[in-house]
Amino acid sequence: MSVRADVRAWLAENWQPDGELSRFREAALDSGWLVPTWSEKWFGKGLSTADAEAVGEEFERVGAPGRADRNDLHARVIYELGSDELRATYLRDLLAGNVTGCLLYSEPGAGSDLASVRTSAVREGDEWRVNGQKVWTSGAKQAGYGLLVARTDSSVPKHQGITYFVIPMKQPGIEVRPITQITGDAHFNEVFLTDAWVDDAHRLGEVNAGWRMLMMALGYERSVMGVRGVGSRASNGKYRASGVTFVGTADDLIGLARRHGKLDDAATVAALADVYAARTAVRLNTARYAEEGRAADPAALSMGKLAMSQVLHSTSRVRRDIVGAAALLDERTEPPGDAEVANFFTLDAYFTSIGGGTDQIQRNIISERILGLPKEEDRSKNVPFSEVRK
Ligand SMILES: Cc1cc2nc3c(=O)[nH]c(=O)nc-3n(C[C@H](O)[C@H](O)[C@H](O)COP(=O)(O)OP(=O)(O)OC[C@H]3O[C@@H](n4cnc5c(N)ncnc54)[C@H](O)[C@@H]3O)c2cc1C
Repeated sequence: MSVRADVRAWLAENWQPDGELSRFREAALDSGWLVPTWSEKWFGKGLSTADAEAVGEEFERVGAPGRADRNDLHARVIYELGSDELRATYLRDLLAGNVTGCLLYSEPGAGSDLASVRTSAVREGDEWRVNGQKVWTSGAKQAGYGLLVARTDSSVPKHQGITYFVIPMKQPGIEVRPITQITGDAHFNEVFLTDAWVDDAHRLGEVNAGWRMLMMALGYERSVMGVRGVGSRASNGKYRASGVTFVGTADDLIGLARRHGKLDDAATVAALADVYAARTAVRLNTARYAEEGRAADPAALSMGKLAMSQVLHSTSRVRRDIVGAAALLDERTEPPGDAEVANFFTLDAYFTSIGGGTDQIQRNIISERILGLPKEEDRSKNVPFSEVRK
């Protein structure tokens, strides 16, 4: 039997749209279908990218959550970059949804220029003492652990003195303060680390080699955003329950236009076609890179993410135009009506334009790596970090 037939048969037996999600995740995890490209030792089936695509398509076809090997950023970082000890500690709980993670990267003085992080980790025996502040940390309130970049050597240039850790969040030295966003959600947070501790065994990669780890982890993040490009609320239960799928399909917008009597309006139809064409181009471009074995190419990931950011803005513009002036109001109706959804997506489109590296930074990467334009000058690059002006 082909992989597609196999997974189809398994889904027919195990997926119930109204069933308990946690039970389904456990079953998918035990069957290997949740992370099809991973090794059998770590919950997978060792499938090729092409076969895993078929698995993902079958999960999507029935509306089941799948491809955690690609879509679950925290689990993927630990699987790809972590030791067997870390994999054994975290992977099962993460994949089953028993614990969540967060990304402790950005700081008040280090966003686009992430190599300027000042949060310090100082080794004391088998542990590291961590002090500093992070900001815009999505999901920190609920997270069981955080992927942390910290300065471990200030006597060398900024990229060379960073180490990457997995830090337990539930400890006295970590305080999380929610930040309310323009959408009304409080999805991200400030995180204050004051004499927090992380075990040396929770280090990802070598001491001071964190920049390379971080680049790989950011690549995984951009690939998720480039493929799916769904904002926070779009991917949670409330919006799924209200039938807003929003992932790579025009059905949702066509349905919206039909409901608002706009399907015979030539301008709306042209806008719908544009959005659909752009989405399809992003999907095919990503698939082409994957087929050429260049899925991890940083320039490809930046193109995918930038394109998806533009698609999300243009899609929300179309959505807004269809709904009309009511889309300007943020009424928080339950269940959310068309106007509320349009309002939310307009604001939430900035998620993909800023999170994971801004559009401008993606353009810099594309211009340098694809177009071969001169690299941006960075005067602090070769100076010991302790001598960089604050
Ligand atoms: C929804 C959301 C979720 C997020 N989640 C997380 C998270 O979980 N963890 C985390 O660590 N961070 C998170 N972030 C933070 C995000 O990664 C940063 O906001 C982003 O990298 C930009 O950094 P900054 O805010 O410091 O802006 P800055 O770096 O100060 O940039 C300000 C402006 O200047 C532009 N700019 C800066 N440098 C350049 C340059 N060299 N060339 C051209 N233009 C430039 C930027 O594009 C931007 O428009 C999240 C952000 C958002 C919006």
